[in-house]
Amino acid sequence: MALKLQFLGAAQNVTGSAHLVEAGGMRILVDCGYYQERALRQRNWEPFPVPAEGIDAVLLTHAHLDHCGLLPKLHKEGFRGKIYCTSATRDITQIILLDSARIQVEDVAYKRRRHAREGRQSPHPYEPLYTVEDAEACFPLFSTVAYEQPAAIGDGIEATYYDAGHILGSASILLRVGRNGESRTILFSGDVGRWNTPILRDPTVPPEADYVLVESTYGNRLHGDNADISKRLETVITETVRAGGNLLIPSFAVERSQELLYHLNELVGAKRIPPLMVFLDSPMAIRVTDVFRRHPELVDEEATALIEDGNDPYGFTGLVMSRSVSQSKAINQVKGTSIVIAGSGMCTGGRIKHHLTHNIERPESTLLFVGYQASGTLGRIILQGANRVRILGQERTVRARVEQIDGFSAHADRNELRRWLGGLAAPPRRIFVVHGEEDSAAEFSDFLHREEGLSTTVAEYRQTVELD
Ligand code: ZN
Repeated sequence: MALKLQFLGAAQNVTGSAHLVEAGGMRILVDCGYYQERALRQRNWEPFPVPAEGIDAVLLTHAHLDHCGLLPKLHKEGFRGKIYCTSATRDITQIILLDSARIQVEDVAYKRRRHAREGRQSPHPYEPLYTVEDAEACFPLFSTVAYEQPAAIGDGIEATYYDAGHILGSASILLRVGRNGESRTILFSGDVGRWNTPILRDPTVPPEADYVLVESTYGNRLHGDNADISKRLETVITETVRAGGNLLIPSFAVERSQELLYHLNELVGAKRIPPLMVFLDSPMAIRVTDVFRRHPELVDEEATALIEDGNDPYGFTGLVMSRSVSQSKAINQVKGTSIVIAGSGMCTGGRIKHHLTHNIERPESTLLFVGYQASGTLGRIILQGANRVRILGQERTVRARVEQIDGFSAHADRNELRRWLGGLAAPPRRIFVVHGEEDSAAEFSDFLHREEGLSTTVAEYRQTVELD
């Protein structure tokens, strides 16, 4: 049985996930991600490596931009097949794509203004990668699937989605190809989450697979214990209240913001923190929280118990969802301590910048980082202890207290990835390591080979492998 696999992204890097399977006369793309690494962003603009109109279907593992962000462009280039994913993934993906389209359009307008000011002429036309209309045009292609229910993709080809525990709706996908009793299976890990995190269920491992593509974001690292997050949060909040300042938390709209609300709900409910105003100051995070509320069937036992008791896991007394700009501006008029959760997660844009201008020079305020800060971002610069930073065109002295809570990672670490693979009934014939920086992918590949005797290969960009 001819089965061909080609790595079209997230090969020795972490973004731009895209893997092509050719089997039974069909071309199936697993994920269609946007490149976020600066050095690889140019690939977003290049024509898709294989003709888009020749792709019959897309299987989407989850809603993160680096897995779904090039779907509107694929559609523009001629893709007209179905996009299969869970219903929560569809809902969140649509929010993410609309936001991404708005950013693409704003970026072009900004570049045009800057070039005009500098008297430069761009060699490229001033066009966004895709617009809001382009994003909306691919929405009718979405076709939803339920977890653990095989979905027919084509003649003799079916896909089964398993909860990956990474973000709401995320999946590992088992693709089965074959007929007349002879079949092959390829398992795409997607991004694998962690065990015992709030809200999400633990990752589920499919029963068996001939071939596996496994992510390796943290393939060479181990996370610390995540049990004391709410204790740390309680301490930071209590100390900020005592100092009389505000607590700013730059946060990603998907998952991290909802996890924060979940922990705050717990702290408020147990009276471990005094009554406070908490602002979720991000229209996108608010929309994503609505998706969480619409999918109570996807959460873990603890969150289910809360919901059954009539408790809202993402809401509590004092919480204000601020949608409009005027609501956002009003936050700075509030007397006493308040908590502000706002994007962007690395302080590179969004409403958090306005809150920073009001608080960064106040020693009584606290800036709390709960997510990864990429090098070169304002978040990273502050975290590294810079004394002066530039925010919205103004130099500011950093006087606020800067804190960080680790343990919020949405990705399995090396041992958790090993545990995930260990859930398979038998060792796969071959494992391809994807979605990791060069070092991480190589070290994880060696680790699996050495410790488990598995046949592993680090996937290379645009490499094609024939599987038998
Ligand atoms: Zn992800």
